[in-house]
Amino acid sequence: MERKVTWETYDAEQLEKLEKLNLEYRNFLDNGKTERECIDTIVNTIETEGYQELESLIKEGKKLAAGDKVYSVCMNKSIVMFRIGEKPMAEGMNILGAHIDSPRIDVKQNPLYEEGGFAYLDTHYYGGVKKYQWVALPLALHGVVVKKDGTTIEMNIGENEDDPVFFVSDLLIHLAGEQMEKKASKVIEGEALDLIIGSKPIKFAAEEEQDKDKDKEQAKEAIKAGILDILKETYDMEEEDFLSAELEIVPAGKTREAGFDRSLLLGYGQDDRVCAFTSMRAMLDVEKIEKTLCCILVDKEEIGSVGATGMHSRFFENAVAEVMNLTGEYSELNVRRCLARSAMLSSDVSAGFDPSYASCFEKKNAAFVGKGMVFNKFTGSRGKSGSNDANAEYIAYLRKLLDEKGIVYQTAELGKVDVGGGGTIAYILAEYGMNVIDSGVAVLNMHAPWEATSKADVYETYRGYMVFAEGAGM
Ligand code: MN
Ligand code: MN
Repeated sequence: MERKVTWETYDAEQLEKLEKLNLEYRNFLDNGKTERECIDTIVNTIETEGYQELESLIKEGKKLAAGDKVYSVCMNKSIVMFRIGEKPMAEGMNILGAHIDSPRIDVKQNPLYEEGGFAYLDTHYYGGVKKYQWVALPLALHGVVVKKDGTTIEMNIGENEDDPVFFVSDLLIHLAGEQMEKKASKVIEGEALDLIIGSKPIKFAAEEEQDKDKDKEQAKEAIKAGILDILKETYDMEEEDFLSAELEIVPAGKTREAGFDRSLLLGYGQDDRVCAFTSMRAMLDVEKIEKTLCCILVDKEEIGSVGATGMHSRFFENAVAEVMNLTGEYSELNVRRCLARSAMLSSDVSAGFDPSYASCFEKKNAAFVGKGMVFNKFTGSRGKSGSNDANAEYIAYLRKLLDEKGIVYQTAELGKVDVGGGGTIAYILAEYGMNVIDSGVAVLNMHAPWEATSKADVYETYRGYMVFAEGAGM
């Protein structure tokens, strides 16, 4: 079975729409490099399109009816949006889902130290990373510091041209004989990923009456003291405030077009903000819906969908119950019916076929960059362990929907059998007894600091989500 090359199916008008969507996507990536920033970007976008906060509607005792748009945010890191359809919610929803966390390096809770003429932040990486990819490149620091009085300091350093950046050092090649013999997983160890944040000692006032010993004591860590001085001056924060901070280290810089033909995008965090963006945009742009449309964009996928903001949290189920309460449909049974009768596209990036590493893929069942929206009947590893398995009946339903509207799509497995594998949030929603399939966009160098996607796939996946959103359901 040959699949189409998406680019070849577009006329001039579609190419124009494609470029417009991708420009918006690039801004989305650049403005949301952490899950918190991503939520801010999404809320700003959807509020201009008439979405109202669920919690304030509850407080005001408002009711919801067909056409109403509502959203709920969980701890600034996950969001669920609903667009109420003509049909009762108990008949099920069409659900788009994706995740907005990405692999990165986190700052530890007691991070600041000085060593050998440098001030450092000690770190602990988040998600599956090839640690050697994160050294010797410009890094930015994003996140929040929450002080005891409840004030939140937002940090975003390294993205503007005149901002400083940070970096993790690597050993010079001249002395790396022993290092180069090591396995790739050991070349750079987790504890070696500490971030260099300064090297200039503070000057202490050498007043006559000052205690000389104390002066010497302070001078021992004069570089660290210099950093603390800057943090105090700029952010009014003390060293202790790192205890209640969430600081994330990400590649510095914007998403770029790649290739002479500008057909690709090279950017940080496309796993899985590419599916989050296209799902959100499709939800906003789709015109007529019969069933209630839901979009859930969650945190913590990269570490197992755990915690209050991960997909395993009751947050989503609670929001469904609250929304049904406002539509006047709430009962325990109706919530269960709604969830069980829903259909979901659980989206995440797929491993794009990489000709340089062809032996890791089975070509007939690989996802190709530029060949449209990807569906994975199952994910998992080895004997499909940990997989969601989408039903053949559901796949047939989707084929009909997409073929009728001329959407270019492909089916794939994540690499060759027994080479590796992976999973996403599909199996968690499937626990409600609903139809779920893994879908999304093919990516090259997934989980690297800079990941690549095809602009055509971004556009085609967005179109596919719109067609799904209009569907009558199973
Ligand atoms: Mn992912
Ligand atoms: Mn991932």
